[in-house]
Amino acid sequence: MCNRVQLLTAIRVITALAALISYSALGQQVPPPATKSTQIVLLGTGLPRPDPKRSGPATAIVVNGAPYLVDAGPGIVRRATAAYDKGVKALAVANLQTLFITHLHSDHTVGYPDLIFTTWVQGRHRPIRAYGPPGLEAMTKYIMLAWQVDIDARTKGLEQRDINGLTVEAHDVKPGLVYEDSNVRVTAFPVPHGELQAYGYKFQTPDRTVVISGDTSPSAELISNCQKCDVLIHEAFSDDFKPADMPNWLQYRSKYHTTTTQLAEIANKTQPGLLIVYHRGVGPTGHEISDEQYLAEIRRTYRGKVVIGQDLDVY
Ligand SMILES: [Zn+2]
Ligand SMILES: [Zn+2]
Repeated sequence: MCNRVQLLTAIRVITALAALISYSALGQQVPPPATKSTQIVLLGTGLPRPDPKRSGPATAIVVNGAPYLVDAGPGIVRRATAAYDKGVKALAVANLQTLFITHLHSDHTVGYPDLIFTTWVQGRHRPIRAYGPPGLEAMTKYIMLAWQVDIDARTKGLEQRDINGLTVEAHDVKPGLVYEDSNVRVTAFPVPHGELQAYGYKFQTPDRTVVISGDTSPSAELISNCQKCDVLIHEAFSDDFKPADMPNWLQYRSKYHTTTTQLAEIANKTQPGLLIVYHRGVGPTGHEISDEQYLAEIRRTYRGKVVIGQDLDVY
């Protein structure tokens, strides 16, 4: 029979465990240890389908308080603000300035005008710097032209917005080192994604090496860029995922995307400290392929640490 003190201690332990479990159940990870100065914030883990739980592809790599964004899927600015409200103060709208685009598919870029104009109107005064495959400079030019009515109204009307924040320095880049500052070295490498010119990126910070796939079928370049990297963020499609509107899905998938079985092989070859699965096909509401199925498919042949990324997770 336990005494009163033992009973109280047991209750405290159970309460703490329950709090930890409910924290995880909300899609929130326990914050990384304070010694890590690099944080990965998943701003969007979804696909083109407008899934309210999964915003379009966008990831923030935060180093010493500075955010570096990868892709601008729909919802990027609102998700960044949600992360800010949860305590990632580096993702204040005025700080959203540096962007790397993996490829010009719309699900990765329709948040680009949102990033340019919403953050400008909400107080970003420094230029946007954007890097991506050829075509990004032209896309940027046409976005600025498309919103000319808004620009004229906000700069020449009574709003009198600061024009410094309207500058977008877009760069079509070739594979190789594309960006470097005191926080990070960013290397672009080509990945196979059908007929698109697509890049994966490697971020080397003082404490972590992070590799992100973008959209890709299995890539030898990615494998050579993530040899025991700390974190690999990779797309995947369950072997069971079959969109109803694409009868040629298997042929398409083989040229554009990576299956869970292939991702397990990639993880075995690269051995990342942590594998984060994002940009995954879940299927329509009510017929979703579960996270557990994704994990089970990958764990058939891969024994390392793997998680299924959720919007607003922090690693
Ligand atoms: Zn794509
Ligand atoms: Zn995509």
